[in-house]
Amino acid sequence: MSTGTEIAPLVLIVSGPSGSGKSTLVQRILELPGTMASISCTTRSRRATEASGKCYDFVTEAEFDAMAARGEFLEYARVFGKHSYGTPRKWLEESRKKGLDVVLEIDVQGAAQVKEKLPESVAIFILPPSREELERRLRERGQDSNEEIARRLAKARDEIAAFGKYYDFCVVNDDVERAGREAQAIVIALRCTSARRRARVEQLLASFGRE
Ligand code: 5GP
Repeated sequence: MSTGTEIAPLVLIVSGPSGSGKSTLVQRILELPGTMASISCTTRSRRATEASGKCYDFVTEAEFDAMAARGEFLEYARVFGKHSYGTPRKWLEESRKKGLDVVLEIDVQGAAQVKEKLPESVAIFILPPSREELERRLRERGQDSNEEIARRLAKARDEIAAFGKYYDFCVVNDDVERAGREAQAIVIALRCTSARRRARVEQLLASFGRE
C-alpha cells in the first residue's frame, strides 16, 4: 500500500517505561493503513496471554546468540539484566519491500542503537502521567513480584532521565484515547513532510507539462 511517498518507509521506534501503556499506543499506530509491526525475538518465556509469533518470537539463549553472531539483529539488548531482546533486520527488509512504515516497540538501549545506525528513524517516547500511576498500573497487571516492580520503577526513572537524548517526540499517556490520537497524528504528520512528498510534487509538476 502506498503512503504517498517514493522514498524509504518510516522506521518508527516506540519506547517508554514498562507500564507506560506503549503496547496499546503501538496498536493505535498499527491501525493506520500503511504500517506494519516488527516482531522482536526474546529469550524470556512466554506469558499465558501471549501467542508465539504474535507478540514475540520466543527463542532459546543459544538461538539468540547464533542470530546475533550472524548479524541478524538491527539491535539487541539485555533488558532488566535478565533476558535478551532483539529486532531482526528482516522486518526492515520486509518494510522496504512492501512499502510499509515499520513500528519497533523496543527499550531505550535498543532505541539508542537504532538511532545511531539509522539516523533517519523517528523515536517516540511514551511517558506515564506520574510515578504513582505507573506503580499502580504495574501492580494492577499482577504479573510481577515486589522486587520486579521496584526494578521496573528504577529502570523507568533512568529511561525518563535519558529520553531527551534520543527521542524526537513524546506522548503523555494519561488518557489512552487522546494519547492514541497523538501517536497517530505524529505518523500522519511525518508522512506529509515536504521531503517525503517531493516525488509527489515532481509528479504533479510533470502533469502540468513544460512551460
Ligand atoms: P516485556 O518482557 O515486558 O514484554 O518487555 C520488556 C522490555 O523489553 C520492554 O521495554 C520492551 O519494549 C523491550 N523490548 C521488546 N522487544 C525488544 C527488542 O527487540 N529490543 C529491545 N532493545 N527491547 C525490546
